Amino acid sequence: MAPLLEVDELTCGYGPVSVLREVSFTVERGECVAVLGANGAGKTTLLRALSGLLRPTAGRIVYDGADLRGVPVEKVVRRGLAHVPEGRGVVAELTVDENLRLGGLWRPDRKDARTALAEVYELFDPLARRKGSVGHQLSGGERQMLALGRALVARPTLLLLDEPSLGLAPRVTAQILGLLTRLRERTGLTVLLVEQNVRSVLSVADRGVVLSVGRVALSAPAARLRDDDDLRHAYLGF
Ligand code: ATP
Repeated sequence: MAPLLEVDELTCGYGPVSVLREVSFTVERGECVAVLGANGAGKTTLLRALSGLLRPTAGRIVYDGADLRGVPVEKVVRRGLAHVPEGRGVVAELTVDENLRLGGLWRPDRKDARTALAEVYELFDPLARRKGSVGHQLSGGERQMLALGRALVARPTLLLLDEPSLGLAPRVTAQILGLLTRLRERTGLTVLLVEQNVRSVLSVADRGVVLSVGRVALSAPAARLRDDDDLRHAYLGF
């Protein structure tokens, strides 16, 4: 079967500055791929290009058999690609329930949106307990859960997740990554995630793609990146 996502020689940046240069990799259906690399390597830029927030200057992004070039963000979302940005984007003035319902706005079928909402509450019971709390009353971990939950209400096929552990205590990070694993087991969701917390992410991902100054330096199974000391020293610096 063709990969769910195929990134082919993608070049992209801000104005005249290219941040990503000829980046190529694939993500298979059901796979969890971690995008790794130093600060400024271009990880966030890559996710922004994939979700249509940035326009590539060259190369192709093929998602579920179709070229995403020139497709507006809302259409990308409707095709099942959800992006949870760094910093989470929870609306602080709205309640947990209202934030989650926002995620279902683009669902054509209201009944299905209600079912998806109930599933999110079942999966994330801390959110069910705080349904009526507004965004700014939540802890960092709860806000991350809410951002993730909101993306899931749209029932994505591919989830792009930017630094889910940012600013969270190790215990909460482990909880979020554990949730992601449960979610994948349950739904077969495909995940592409950016994470600074390399050790933790390699324990949940299937494969790692290492970016270095905007280029793919290495793509390898997560287990190899975890266990091969030489490889880890050379590409991940620890
Ligand atoms: P970090 O882990 O620090 O978030 P990253 O690998 O996600 O790093 P990016 O955020 O993609 O890296 O940034 C890659 C490069 O693009 C950096 O040199 C950064 O300064 C630059 N950059 C990021 N956002 C913009 C922007 N809006 N305008 C101009 N340059 C930007």
